[in-house]
Parts: sequence; C-alpha cells; structure tokens
Amino acid sequence: MSDDCLFCKIANGEIPGKIVYEDDQLLAFEDVNPQAPFHALIIPRRHISTLNDVQAGDEALLGGMITRAAQIAKEHGHDQDGYRTVFNCNRGAGQSVFHIHLHLLAGRNMTWPPG
Ligand code: AMP
Repeated sequence: MSDDCLFCKIANGEIPGKIVYEDDQLLAFEDVNPQAPFHALIIPRRHISTLNDVQAGDEALLGGMITRAAQIAKEHGHDQDGYRTVFNCNRGAGQSVFHIHLHLLAGRNMTWPPG
C-alpha cells in the first residue's frame, strides 16, 4: 500500500471503482476514461510502481494478470473478435498512474502501430 496511490485506494475501497473482477491478489475495474467500448484495468493489490519494479518471484502475479485479462475478455464476449492488452511503463510510454496496470481494450478494431 502506498498512501498517495490512486489504484491502492481503489483496491482498498477508499475510492470507488466499477469492479469487474477481484480476488485476494488482483483487482480489475473499468477505466474511467475508456479508449474502447470495453476498457478495463487489471492491477495487483500489492503496490508496484512500474514494470521496472517487478522482481524475481513476481512471475506468477504478472502471469495471473495476463490470464485474468484473457478470462475477462472471454466473459465479455471479446475473445473471438479480439482485444488488446497493454502495460505502459513510465511517462514516455504514457504511464500516468504509477501502480502497474494491464489495460484490456476491446469492442472496436485496433490499429497498429499504437500512438
Ligand atoms: P496509464 O496512462 O497507462 O497510466 O493508464 C492510467 C489509466 O487509469 C488511464 O486510462 C485513466 O483513464 C485511468 N484512470 C485514472 N483514474 C481512474 C479512476 N479513478 N478509475 C478508473 N480508471 C482511472
């Protein structure tokens, strides 16, 4: 828990979020400024600022975030049409909240390369 972290506050219920999945390690909630018809963020409950701060031993946690994203996409009917998962790392890549989160975007065609 980091006191001034927005996503820690969503994870502990201090700030409301539209939760789409939760367990003892992970939380997924709708993005407040969706960039696709379906846009959720999958986060670990434990505070990790950026992907650069992931350590040995976190592999299962990170893998769990990815497999959970796939499961959520399937539950919302996006597994066949397709979806995109994105981790932004640091400001140059567009990271604005410094608690790692996996974006799950679906419901429209995606372009490549991303902006
Ligand atoms: P990033 O720019 O990769 O750090 O992504 C941060 C994401 O968090 C953005 O897509 C924001 O729209 C989203 N966001 C910011 N505040 C909230 C909030 N209170 N609830 C849900 N999503 C949020």
